[in-house]
Amino acid sequence: MRQRLVAANWKMHGDRAFARQLMGQLKTSLSALDKEAQVVIIPPAQLLADVSDLAKGSSIEVGAQNLAQWESGAFTGEISAEMLADVGARYALVGHSERRSLFAENDDVVAAKVARVLATEMKVIFCCGESLAQRESGSAQAVVDAQLAAGLREVSSGQWGKVIVAYEPVWAIGTGKTASPEDAQEIHAGIRVALKRLGAPEDDVPVIYGGSVKESNARELFAQPDVDGGLVGGASLDAQAFAAICRAV
Ligand code: PEP
Repeated sequence: MRQRLVAANWKMHGDRAFARQLMGQLKTSLSALDKEAQVVIIPPAQLLADVSDLAKGSSIEVGAQNLAQWESGAFTGEISAEMLADVGARYALVGHSERRSLFAENDDVVAAKVARVLATEMKVIFCCGESLAQRESGSAQAVVDAQLAAGLREVSSGQWGKVIVAYEPVWAIGTGKTASPEDAQEIHAGIRVALKRLGAPEDDVPVIYGGSVKESNARELFAQPDVDGGLVGGASLDAQAFAAICRAV
């Protein structure tokens, strides 16, 4: 059975007091959550060590939003995969549309980052998704397939168990617009076909949905047969809303 998973992308939000308060609330409200659903908190990098400590004693795991594409060296300001794993990260996001568009991360950078994550004990949450223009022109699936083929090209046959795909239509991220459950299901099913083409073992890779997931739409999205959970931005900054989304998975 595929892992079900809900991940919280805090983006560039939160200080230590916020992390303490939110993690306290989440640990209480998620204590009864079904163990088959993995909850991952992805805070900004300066909070990783704190959030890992705060998550102790719960089943919540912690992830990084970004990493360097290099192993180590003279790269001022960068943080390597090994360093992130050392402070408790067990997952790392790669290919998020904000990294692709605001920081010009191309397929080569994305593929290198995937390889760096998989060289550690961390799992990668690989993000892909089409723009509004691409959806309207009917090329959503082709765009996603191309991102998967380019970004995951260095995944070896033994590493697929450490890959999670997040389908995040760019037009739905932070906009309040969400893909309909049917549209999400259609792309997720297509992603499974593409993953098989890339050599992933049949049906083993979790595929989660991101893009304005909230309490009011989570249950219907997560009920789709190929939607294994969610990547949640805005709504993950509210403990009650995020806990409700986790309970819907
Ligand atoms: C995201 O940042 O990956 C995301 C899906 O954000 P939001 O839930 O705010 O759309």
